[in-house]
Amino acid sequence: MDDVAAMLDELAGEIARCDKCRLAATRTQTVPGEGPVGARVMLIGEGPGEQEDLSGRPFVGAAGQLLTRLLHEAGLERSDVFITNLVKCRPPGNRVPAPDEMAACRPYLDAQIALLNPRFVCLLGRPATQALMDPTAAISKVHGVPQERDGMVYVPLYHPAAALHQASLADTLVADMRRLGQLLRSAL
Ligand code: SF4
Repeated sequence: MDDVAAMLDELAGEIARCDKCRLAATRTQTVPGEGPVGARVMLIGEGPGEQEDLSGRPFVGAAGQLLTRLLHEAGLERSDVFITNLVKCRPPGNRVPAPDEMAACRPYLDAQIALLNPRFVCLLGRPATQALMDPTAAISKVHGVPQERDGMVYVPLYHPAAALHQASLADTLVADMRRLGQLLRSAL
């Protein structure tokens, strides 16, 4: 465990020095992700927003506060899960990361997944779902439906930021998180 924690720290240091894509030029700081070593559940979003860029921590803005409440629906605390993003630097104006930016940053995410080896990987929104599960997936069709692959269970979910602007998506997310909670309990 100590070794994994040290390797995650080393990776965060490498990310902090990274200039492999254009997002390095506009970031305040990198946002590598955070959570406990040994987390059964990993959450992967799209990219840091303004508050995350300023604080260096993932999901601390309005979407993050909603995410914390949604995790409770699944019987989880934030401190139970490792949270990160496809890209570790904020895309200007919160635009969707470009394919070459996601590709440049992907080795960091792959290294985090390999080090943490979570049982469940929740994919928040379309870009994360398409990048890690199925490049043709429509989040409106696959949300909440777990898919087991390579010893991990991928659970695509709507991104909490989308639910901030559309109340019906918030209800869907609550239902999906409750199903995730059932899945987690049945896998104990
Ligand atoms: S987004 Fe990723 S690849 Fe691009 S500069 Fe930041 S850490 Fe490096």
